[in-house]
Amino acid sequence: MHRPNRRGFLAAMSGAVIGPGALASTSPARSVRYPGDEHRGKCVIASANGLWKDGTGCIVQAMQLIDEGADPADAVVAGVTLVENNPDDHSVGYGGLPNEDGVVQLDASVMHGPTHKAGSVAALENIRSAAAVALKVLKHTDHVMLVGDGARRFALRMGFKEEDMLTEEARQAWLKWKRNLNPKDDWLDDDQSDFPPPAHSRIDPDIPFTYGTINCSAVTDDGTLASCTTTSGLSYKIPGRVGDSPIVGAGMYVDNEIGAAGATGRGEAAIQSCCAYEIVRAMGEGKSPTEACLHALERVADHTRQKRLLNDKGQPNFGLVLYALRKDGAYGCASMHPGYRYAVHDGVTARHLNAPALFE
Ligand code: ASP
Repeated sequence: MHRPNRRGFLAAMSGAVIGPGALASTSPARSVRYPGDEHRGKCVIASANGLWKDGTGCIVQAMQLIDEGADPADAVVAGVTLVENNPDDHSVGYGGLPNEDGVVQLDASVMHGPTHKAGSVAALENIRSAAAVALKVLKHTDHVMLVGDGARRFALRMGFKEEDMLTEEARQAWLKWKRNLNPKDDWLDDDQSDFPPPAHSRIDPDIPFTYGTINCSAVTDDGTLASCTTTSGLSYKIPGRVGDSPIVGAGMYVDNEIGAAGATGRGEAAIQSCCAYEIVRAMGEGKSPTEACLHALERVADHTRQKRLLNDKGQPNFGLVLYALRKDGAYGCASMHPGYRYAVHDGVTARHLNAPALFE
């Protein structure tokens, strides 16, 4: 059985605020090792795309609504809706990269702490607000999950509008991927064509697959929690492929007595190790939010046994970032590998922080 590189794990821990003496996660005298350990009170945490360069974005919107007294489920959905509407974010909503057939299929879920209700949609086509549709499932049905055409028709009944979700930029990226799929097929690449290549695309054509998603969790001053995850999923996926984002317990999870958690990155791994549930469970056992994320990543590394998913050090070769928010407002995040950031609004400021990595 594969074991994660313990040394890398400890290196990640020692890179934190105070040294590695504090591994005993349940000790009440535990020293603070990550910025989010100390925070108390209202908080919104999201993946890095939850805060834009101009200081606006998902977490700012969600915090503003919480300050106005909104329910955190409404607040996180309103926050991620900004990202879904942004055509420049090719991992979420409108402008998301399509599946193998050139069709954008969206996945989203939302969970409300006080009622422990969840709503989710998967493989939703032609509707940009997947998270808002998931919230409608939560609020207006006795179900948790609607998929495919049923989800689309439900959205129409709820008043959402149908539209073509494939932007020109995303279509060009998909065409590029298709042309490069098989050197022997009949699709001509730019350099083989007699015509000038298509206008420059801002999507790096050398990256054949991209992951990307937004997870956003929020807690109010009185400890009311919610979480939401929305995505266009793995780009160029097999039509019908559903990732972790709409799976309750994988892409996000909330237990209002403990906390909330979410995941972005390789959805298959988050599903197979029930990442969001595992983080919340570990926080319930006394782990800090960041420790709980690192613990869930360790389990993923331990469960990753296919050679093609391991690098030459025997570590998972894919990206996975986990986010956690505790009922008292403490927050944390961790990634499988270095180089990832996350976004936090602590009630006063919105900022990006570096995610500690399991394998530094
Ligand atoms: N987790 C998403 C999925 O697998 C993609 C991502 O977060 O990048 O569909």
